Amino acid sequence: MIAVILILAALALLIFSQRYAWWRPAVDYRYPRILMYHMVAEHRKGARFNKLRVRPGMFERQVRWLKEQGWHFASMTDLMQNRKLPEKTVVITFDDGYADNYLQAYPVLKKYGAKATLYLVVDRFDRDWSTSKKAHHDSGELMHEPKLSDDQVREMLASGLVELGGHTLTHANLAKLDREARTREVVSGREQLQQTFGQPVSSFAYPFGIYDEQDVSICAEAGFLSAVTTEEGINRDRFSDPYRLKRVKISGKDSMLAFRLRMKTGQRGWKR
Ligand SMILES: [Zn+2]
Repeated sequence: MIAVILILAALALLIFSQRYAWWRPAVDYRYPRILMYHMVAEHRKGARFNKLRVRPGMFERQVRWLKEQGWHFASMTDLMQNRKLPEKTVVITFDDGYADNYLQAYPVLKKYGAKATLYLVVDRFDRDWSTSKKAHHDSGELMHEPKLSDDQVREMLASGLVELGGHTLTHANLAKLDREARTREVVSGREQLQQTFGQPVSSFAYPFGIYDEQDVSICAEAGFLSAVTTEEGINRDRFSDPYRLKRVKISGKDSMLAFRLRMKTGQRGWKR
């Protein structure tokens, strides 16, 4: 009987360790963490993209924890213009432009004085971009998700806490386009944001995290200082390769423990 209990306990510990990899050492806190969020919203029953929905209560717990633990909030522009940033610098990023970024996340950012960078799709209304990655993603779930209005974006920008980043005109899958069309998506996307909102746009996020050498050079030529991917991790030298920056993925399924481990190591669990 005792042997069975011991074996079960060992098994549970093994599964827990494999899942959270709590034993991994922290990545040096001199290296900033760039966090990737999409929506801040309650989960929808049976929805495909709940991983992209961080619950509002959880989002507040995460930001409060960052504040309490002495993390320094920066924008992507801060990150790329300052070689010397304090230890424990964190950049919160939101992709796409969901209305809940204004309704749910923005009040929390204000409450804790946290900065964020918003990678905004220009033509974001009534578009189902999930299908341009995988054709079977045709549920319309992301299409029907309310998007930020230009006025909501303006209000967030006026606070000084939020800055804009480029995320193309239409959330295009760049790999499916020729160079001319890619350039239009990236360059016109940047110009239109700057025109509409009257603010500089210095960072870019590849839609779906899909990019190749061509896209890297297009971003550089377009005048972006940096581009972020969806590759998980913490950048040890952001200036040597500024157009392939990794991010720390924050999943809607994460517990606080998982979040803390991601802040420590850049990922949750046992990968690589
Ligand atoms: Zn996106």
